[in-house]
Amino acid sequence: MRVFAVAEHRFGELNPLSIEMLNLANSIKGDGTSEAVIIGKGVDEFASELAKYADKVWKIEDDSLEHYNPELYIDVLMQLFEKEKPDVVLIGNTAEGGEYAPYLAAKLNAPVVTDVVGVDVSDGVKVSRYLFQGKLMADLKIKSMPCVLTVRQGVFKEGSEVNGEIVEAGIKPSKTPARNFVQYIEPEVGEIDITQADIIVSVGRGIEDESNIELAQELADLLGGVVAGSRPVIDNGWLPKDRQVGISGKVVKPKLYLALGISGAFQHVMGMKDSELIIAINKDPEAPIFGVAHYGAVADLFEVVPELIDKLREMKG
Ligand SMILES: Cc1cc2nc3c(=O)[nH]c(=O)nc-3n(C[C@H](O)[C@H](O)[C@H](O)COP(=O)(O)OP(=O)(O)OC[C@H]3O[C@@H](n4cnc5c(N)ncnc54)[C@H](O)[C@@H]3O)c2cc1C
Repeated sequence: MRVFAVAEHRFGELNPLSIEMLNLANSIKGDGTSEAVIIGKGVDEFASELAKYADKVWKIEDDSLEHYNPELYIDVLMQLFEKEKPDVVLIGNTAEGGEYAPYLAAKLNAPVVTDVVGVDVSDGVKVSRYLFQGKLMADLKIKSMPCVLTVRQGVFKEGSEVNGEIVEAGIKPSKTPARNFVQYIEPEVGEIDITQADIIVSVGRGIEDESNIELAQELADLLGGVVAGSRPVIDNGWLPKDRQVGISGKVVKPKLYLALGISGAFQHVMGMKDSELIIAINKDPEAPIFGVAHYGAVADLFEVVPELIDKLREMKG
């Protein structure tokens, strides 16, 4: 299959989801190709980075493409896809992707599935996504190709390098858009992206109070990690929404996931089960979190964490 992934970038940075989509593309392409599309102005560096993970990178450059614009994206993508016939088009399940993926699908007369977390190509193309805020997982069989899939961030982090070629697509926008970019307004929170963290100290309701988050933060600082939490911690306003791990939060795969006072409800576990090393501290020996943890301590976090902090301080001198 020819699997295309439309890269995403902003403020001069490539969204790592672009590489994750190529990992997915490489895992499903069979004897076909993984092909990235990079749209923008001055995107040579992005193209080189993408070429590490794609058989081919299509570069579409123009001054008018400096900022994301859905009309221009559709315009240039349709020009490309009329010549280079895709089987699958992968787009980030982000604010941008959510806007232009259905638009592109309509133009291609293709089915679209959003927020995809799994793709199986052993018998046709079958994609998995959650339904009803994660209560159900649905497998959907794609009956007509091409198809457009928006891909959840943080799910397809594993992959290997391909080292493909970069191709000038020679495509320019063919029209002036009705809407123009004015400015980005950054949200107040969001300076930490837990999906990219190697070490996560995650707190659950067992942390008891907002004032105790400091304890987890201290431990995270000593470990060089970040603090995340389960849903009740976010619902209580003790941590911002973008720190929530789980099906209605973020999917994380850090090298170390330290779960403090988290019971391990499946809605939480689905967001962290693929972490390389999971260590849980929970007072309840029956807590389901121990079912996914590689190591666990049946203990009071308020006894263990201060001791851990002391030990780490001692080690660091
Ligand atoms: C549609 C839907 C979507 C959801 N999405 C998410 C999601 O994305 N993420 C998510 O996390 N949840 C989600 N939930 C909620 C989920 O079902 C659980 O309610 C939630 O994960 C429980 O959080 P918790 O483990 O922090 O709290 P609890 O289940 O209350 O567990 C607290 C744990 O802390 C332990 N504990 C208490 N005190 C201490 C102590 N001093 N030391 C050590 N351990 C202690 C207790 O033994 C207990 O196991 C969702 C629910 C629904 C219905």
